[in-house]
Amino acid sequence: MADALTEHLPPLSGQEALVESNRCLYCYDAPCTRACPTHIDIPRFIRKIATGNLTGSARTIFDANLLGATCARVCPVQELCEGACVLGADHKPIAIGRLQRHAMDYAARTGLAPFATAPATGRRVAVAGAGPAGLACAGYLARHGHAVTVFEKRPLGGGLSTYGIIVLREPVDIALAEVEMIRRLGVSVETGAEVGSSITMDDLLARFDAVFLSAGLGATPQLGIPGEERILDGLAYIEQSKLAPESLPRAGSVAVIGAGNTAIDCATIARRTGATRVTIVYRRTEREMTAYPHEIDFIRREGVEFRTLTQPIRATEAGLECVRMQLGDPDASGRAAPSPVRGSEFLLSAELIIKAIGQHRPPLAAQLGLDTDRGFIRVNSGYETSLARVWAGGDCIRARGAASTVMAVQDGKLAAEAIHRTLTGGA
Ligand SMILES: Cc1cc2nc3c(=O)[nH]c(=O)nc-3n(C[C@H](O)[C@H](O)[C@H](O)COP(=O)(O)OP(=O)(O)OC[C@H]3O[C@@H](n4cnc5c(N)ncnc54)[C@H](O)[C@@H]3O)c2cc1C
Ligand code: SF4
Repeated sequence: MADALTEHLPPLSGQEALVESNRCLYCYDAPCTRACPTHIDIPRFIRKIATGNLTGSARTIFDANLLGATCARVCPVQELCEGACVLGADHKPIAIGRLQRHAMDYAARTGLAPFATAPATGRRVAVAGAGPAGLACAGYLARHGHAVTVFEKRPLGGGLSTYGIIVLREPVDIALAEVEMIRRLGVSVETGAEVGSSITMDDLLARFDAVFLSAGLGATPQLGIPGEERILDGLAYIEQSKLAPESLPRAGSVAVIGAGNTAIDCATIARRTGATRVTIVYRRTEREMTAYPHEIDFIRREGVEFRTLTQPIRATEAGLECVRMQLGDPDASGRAAPSPVRGSEFLLSAELIIKAIGQHRPPLAAQLGLDTDRGFIRVNSGYETSLARVWAGGDCIRARGAASTVMAVQDGKLAAEAIHRTLTGGA
């Protein structure tokens, strides 16, 4: 088994990329392009690989998706472009993600600028948060000639691409190289600068013509069970596996609480760093799990066990005390509400317990008194918040549907166009 701390898929060789790109039918009104949330012209970039024009291929991708290197690695392509590829029905779909990575690796290796930037407009935009939404917005605004400063509270840019997506899928240096690429477009990225704390919204509105909020979500919530101090935070565990792998806690038996993609990622790391028994504990059934089906299949093949209809009630030195659950009528979320089965308590022995139960709603929403939708920042179709001259995008606005990197990039791109139209009087 490959370890958790190196990238899973090898790059395609030049010959492999050529063979794969020549399989593409270059469909008219291509379903793969329609299925991509950023609508990359996929047949066009693939055809350019087939003709040896890697610069043109990379620029076709950048035109629609500035973070093409990250998306090539982290996008759930089975559910998106590759899932829609017409060749999927009879043969194998085109390996669109890996071809995109081929073009993006070339761009990174050669220091290719994604596009030329327009002459300076004299207009200034502040971006709060250097994750995929903020970087995309900043880069596309720079293309229009606006002066952009990104304020990022963490020491490194990249958001969850740097801190949250496991190395198996995306090494840290890929995310950091994208931050550098955005900087080379003339964008200033100030790290260690927290909007709402070290820099206030009033400061930003006084110094800038427009503000884009792309601060993602909050911290992992509390489970509220005794012994919680023994439980590791899944996001911190993943971050450590990426940035300080030498001090990552390792154990023979690990319990992971949760059923989303973060839980899958934590279980993967635990398994690949030596745990012989990894158990995912979830209070509903597999049908209600929010992780992608292909991720659940993957983790099963990794040898991870599932304890569904199981609720943790206490963490102890011996492991996780749990109770069996049964499903009843639907709750407010529309999903069947679980309730405990009396007398069914048991101990799941585990040396390490990790919680991966999602993230709090964006704290900036309440902090800035913005209108919200289920706790997320409410925006209109042009990404405008309830505060004048303030736009928002990415995870912090995603009240419905699965949050993903590519959706955040699309928000950033469309918000940049909306801000540009406002700054240039609707031109
Ligand atoms: C464990 C995990 C695994 C994932 N795996 C995948 C995957 O495989 N594929 C996929 O498509 N998606 C995945 N996602 C989701 C994806 O990472 C997010 O949808 C995406 O990163 C959202 O981008 P964003 O820019 O909105 O927010 P973020 O990436 O969260 O970036 C927000 C940035 O804002 C900064 N910030 C926060 N508050 C402030 C403030 N007040 N001032 C300044 N800066 C601030 C943060 O430090 C952060 O850098 C995963 C998420 C997690 C948690
Ligand atoms: S659907 Fe498949 S075959 Fe058609 S253009 Fe897209 S990648 Fe090529």
